[in-house]
Amino acid sequence: MTVPRGGPVSTHANSRSVILDAVRAAGTISRVEIVRQTGLTGATVSTVVRRLIDEGIVAEIGTAESTGGKPRTILRLEPSARYAVGVHLDHGGVTYVVTDLAGEIVARTRRPGIGDAGPQDVVTRITGEIGALVAVAGVARSRLLGVGVCLPGPVFQTPADAVVPPTIAQWSDFPLRDALERSVGLPTLMDNDATAGALGEHWARGVPGSVCFGAVYMGTGIGGGLIVGGVPYWGASGNTMEIGHVCVDLDGPPCWCGNRGCVEALAGPATVVAAARAAGLLDGPARSVVADFAAVARAASQGDDAALALLQDSARYVAVAAHTMATVMDADHVVLTGPSFGAAGAIYLPVVREELEKRYFARGTHPVGVTISQHAYEAAAVGAAAMVLQTELVPRQLGIVLPAAGRLDTATTAVRPLQDAPGPASAAG
Ligand SMILES: [Zn+2]
Repeated sequence: MTVPRGGPVSTHANSRSVILDAVRAAGTISRVEIVRQTGLTGATVSTVVRRLIDEGIVAEIGTAESTGGKPRTILRLEPSARYAVGVHLDHGGVTYVVTDLAGEIVARTRRPGIGDAGPQDVVTRITGEIGALVAVAGVARSRLLGVGVCLPGPVFQTPADAVVPPTIAQWSDFPLRDALERSVGLPTLMDNDATAGALGEHWARGVPGSVCFGAVYMGTGIGGGLIVGGVPYWGASGNTMEIGHVCVDLDGPPCWCGNRGCVEALAGPATVVAAARAAGLLDGPARSVVADFAAVARAASQGDDAALALLQDSARYVAVAAHTMATVMDADHVVLTGPSFGAAGAIYLPVVREELEKRYFARGTHPVGVTISQHAYEAAAVGAAAMVLQTELVPRQLGIVLPAAGRLDTATTAVRPLQDAPGPASAAG
């Protein structure tokens, strides 16, 4: 099976995928509410839901009192019905996760980076490590939908369908996705890590009720992703929301991207680490930027005022980047994710929040929520798995916007176990 690299797929969103995504977005939902939300007929909803139950993807978990009518049967996704593998090839290492249908991690591991290894050796290694992790997770291969792989941006799509970041540019003619797909024997998708991280938040309902939200991804550098109506926004080449490379000082220091005065050059993790080392705040040999940045964050949390000042100064720039993204895209939420926010999120969160509360352009129209991802450390790998889940289960295009979970009828919150229910609900119950 040939699966396109990330990006909107051309498959028409049929009633099955619309209903499945309504169940996913809601967490728990009745058939009546699916009808109300999707505009599909009760008969269509009943037929499709019955099929999804027969396939084991959706389960009836109980009943909820209805206002004036008979109790409604409550549905939710069956998390163990399907799984996906997510792989994040980063500068410092390779992170692997297996997630269930709900986007929750069921197994994870981290291995050394690819170093100078040739691409075919790396494909063989990744294939072996995926096989080992799936075995540890105890997941039947028949329930695996595919493999998502993500890399730091910028990504380039070559005529050979290779998508490679500059860090492994020597692979530029190697069709990595195709080679992995053949080697692993499962559909394989590939994209940049910040966009994957944003999609992971969407799929796992990290931002319920959002119409348009941005993710600021901070690992070694600073990137971003945008989800509009449940679908990643891709731009022309899959390199959107590179907010680390927004210029905030025309005469600022040069950045590796070719620009100068970028947020990343002024305040990214590598700059924080360099400043900390120059100030004598880091001992020993340099490790990866992410590991050294986490050490600065630990020092700050243990009362080192100089480390705290460095991070608070960085947070001011990151807050401007988040503000810029939210303002340009009229976002209703910003998620801070990636391992460097996993380490120092408690310092950055209040600074970004204050920036968006006080200075967001459309603040008189709607607030902008700011949160830290629950999976900040593995966000990219989780998101890579979510790319597979979404593409395989609910292929959608921009412009197909489902009502969001935050607007659901609260009647679904009180759920009684099914065995206590008076009997199976009838269709569209
Ligand atoms: Zn730059």
